[in-house]
Amino acid sequence: MKRFFLFDSHLKSKVEFAPEFENEARIYLCGPTVYDDSHLGHARSAISFDLLRRVLTCLGYKVTFARNITDIDDKILKKMEQSDKSLEEIVAFYSDRYRSDMEALSVLPPTIEPTATGHISQMIELIDRLLTRGAAYQTPNGDIYFDVAKYPQYGLLSGETQEDAQTRVSTEQKRDARDFALWKAAKPLEAVGYDSPFGRGRPGWHLECSAMAQTRLFRRGAEYACDIHGGGSDLFFPHHENEAAQTKCGYGVTLAKYWMHNGFVRIDGRKMSKSLNNSFFVKDALSIFQGEALRFYLMSVHYRAGLNYNYGDLNASKKRLDRIYRLKKRVDIIGEPESAFKEEAIAAMSDDLNISKTLAAIDEMIARSNDALDKNPKDKTAKAALGGNLKLISDLLGVGAQDPYEWFQWGVIETDRREIEKLIASRAAAKANRDYAVADEIREKLSAIGVSVMDLSEKTVWEKL
Ligand SMILES: [Zn+2]
Repeated sequence: MKRFFLFDSHLKSKVEFAPEFENEARIYLCGPTVYDDSHLGHARSAISFDLLRRVLTCLGYKVTFARNITDIDDKILKKMEQSDKSLEEIVAFYSDRYRSDMEALSVLPPTIEPTATGHISQMIELIDRLLTRGAAYQTPNGDIYFDVAKYPQYGLLSGETQEDAQTRVSTEQKRDARDFALWKAAKPLEAVGYDSPFGRGRPGWHLECSAMAQTRLFRRGAEYACDIHGGGSDLFFPHHENEAAQTKCGYGVTLAKYWMHNGFVRIDGRKMSKSLNNSFFVKDALSIFQGEALRFYLMSVHYRAGLNYNYGDLNASKKRLDRIYRLKKRVDIIGEPESAFKEEAIAAMSDDLNISKTLAAIDEMIARSNDALDKNPKDKTAKAALGGNLKLISDLLGVGAQDPYEWFQWGVIETDRREIEKLIASRAAAKANRDYAVADEIREKLSAIGVSVMDLSEKTVWEKL
């Protein structure tokens, strides 16, 4: 087992990863609230932790990766009011959209995908524990709050104690402005709600992650509910601080041994927000670029740094990825990767996912390999090792797994595709009849529309320039 180092957001320093159970990594990532399409911030978080998971897997860890779906929330209820859709319809629609966006970005599906509504009884049980232990109280209107004053360690995890979002909520019935809702009593005639010993209502957002991590990842006798808890840096406070407080007071367990947070995405230098109308959705980016190109771009900046999204950088990143696919066209066998390259790429990623160092190693490998293949195009041993290198890249980074010719055909619409394939078939027929003038004419016709044709030993392939 190789060593892995990560930057712990709580300690604010790089530490060596030592999971609670040998050779196993239990990861919990806060997932989406499904009331709208996912934006680039969601994508970046999912990709950052997908990288973490892939690297730990390559290092030999058995990774259990939980990413929840928040399917009950005020934002979903608001969406219900604004549309004529039911809660179930909204949740099903946006969960599917989220999963298909993630699939387009080559984010592996989570090992466990718990939903809030699938854990209502566990959340009620957690509230009950907190009430019993005196760490929570119910207000006259039926809401239940976590009593921050009863937990002196509050704020030590993130280093923050106050936040506007938390204090903005009406404080008239709270004992302390920092207290946060565990249960929101249903208002009369409100359609969505769950029965509980403390009245009809619905759980607060922070509560679900504590209940789900405990139910799905904790093991009897463990000190921590999970090894690594992750999310966007905007979640550290208050969301993660609140989760950790609930878990400690309710279950007597520390929620996570390590905390990891990814940086923000800005759009052309501006903070992404709905009010600015520049909240860039994944689906919009996917209409102009392949999912893998978007993935490659979003992960090309270190996960903790801020990323300033802009078209020029995305385009440049896509061209960098093209180089991997161009090399792939020259290689048709998969052997063991070159040990020096493998060592270098894994060592860089094991250093808190040092992507720029990894990408530099890849660029260098591509340049070196192209030179070697230029000199000796038929070297089977070299080709097998290169195939191994490319396989390693796709396992480690989640890019380069596609058919290289299809990669360069992306964006060609179906009718054009049929037309191109018809021309290629006519060209093959002309060649078979030794009618080379006609064959050349067709090749030129294709070239005029930006299609280049290559004759391989068994088939003819094409790509769009
Ligand atoms: Zn969470």
